[in-house]
Amino acid sequence: MSKALGLLSGGLDSILAIKVLEEQGINVTGITFVTPFFGPKKAEKAAKTLGIRLIIKNITEEHLVMLKNPRYGYGSGMNPCIDCHGLMLKIAGEIMEREGFDFIFTGEVLGERPMSQNKQSLGIVGKLSGYREYILRPLSARLLEETKPEKEGRVDRSRLLDLNGRQRTRQFEMAEKYGIKDYPNPASGCLLTDPGFSKRLRDLFENEGDVPTGEIELLKAGRHVRMKEGPKIIIGRNEGDNMSLAGIEQSKYYLFAPMGVKGPYCMIPKNMNAELLDKAALLCVSYCSAQEGEEVTIREKGKSQGKSVKTIFSKSNRPTEFV
Ligand code: SF4
Repeated sequence: MSKALGLLSGGLDSILAIKVLEEQGINVTGITFVTPFFGPKKAEKAAKTLGIRLIIKNITEEHLVMLKNPRYGYGSGMNPCIDCHGLMLKIAGEIMEREGFDFIFTGEVLGERPMSQNKQSLGIVGKLSGYREYILRPLSARLLEETKPEKEGRVDRSRLLDLNGRQRTRQFEMAEKYGIKDYPNPASGCLLTDPGFSKRLRDLFENEGDVPTGEIELLKAGRHVRMKEGPKIIIGRNEGDNMSLAGIEQSKYYLFAPMGVKGPYCMIPKNMNAELLDKAALLCVSYCSAQEGEEVTIREKGKSQGKSVKTIFSKSNRPTEFV
């Protein structure tokens, strides 16, 4: 029996690709990837429903290296989809070799995403991965070059499909046929396609040299204000943001909370001089509920002897520009 390793996002196409191969008696294992920008939840759910083994692989380090300088550039946000797919298939290919799978596959459909799933992009992705010959796309295989597993008779090409384009009518018919009812909408679930997140990430890459993972986690919460002097401060927008900021492990920032008045948690870089720290405190405190002109102290959260700054509340200090 042939053994195949498939990229499983948890979306309908990746589920259908598995069904098509299972119908041929192929033994399928899924693989999904984890970075600060996307996680395994949808894939875990799909694998459970399908009853298949799922490999979850954290690729944060190599993904970050690629993300800073993708050979084929970014999509509408900071999503370097061609390079990202190339990297995922490279890693899947290495696991294929190590664990004795016969080939790898994806749920990609030719022409479904005009930029990253046209014939040329699929070819580039294959080349980037180093496993071009081994990558089967069961949903569009009959429109694509024959792959090694097809040539070797490990897969019956005549039972693969010829889906093409953005119309998903045939996928919905197949879902009905296989009794697949519960699947997520086609949105990628990848933060790199989110315009707001992408703006913050671009700002981070442009302004900070080394970008540890904790810094990326910080991009997920709060108002981000880049001061004209250079440093960035982060101000919680609500209770949820405050909790998120307090829960992120990092060493570069003070986490301040206002004393005696309601207001947001605020992250201020530790390496600021006293003058800048005062300016940053003014911005943070401007979101507290205090009286105009009232003196407010912010103190390192949870530290009775921690760093503190006294400043004056004024709504007029609220920043006007956000990252
Ligand atoms: S949407 Fe995100 S996870 Fe998907 S290929 Fe593009 S960058 Fe990678």
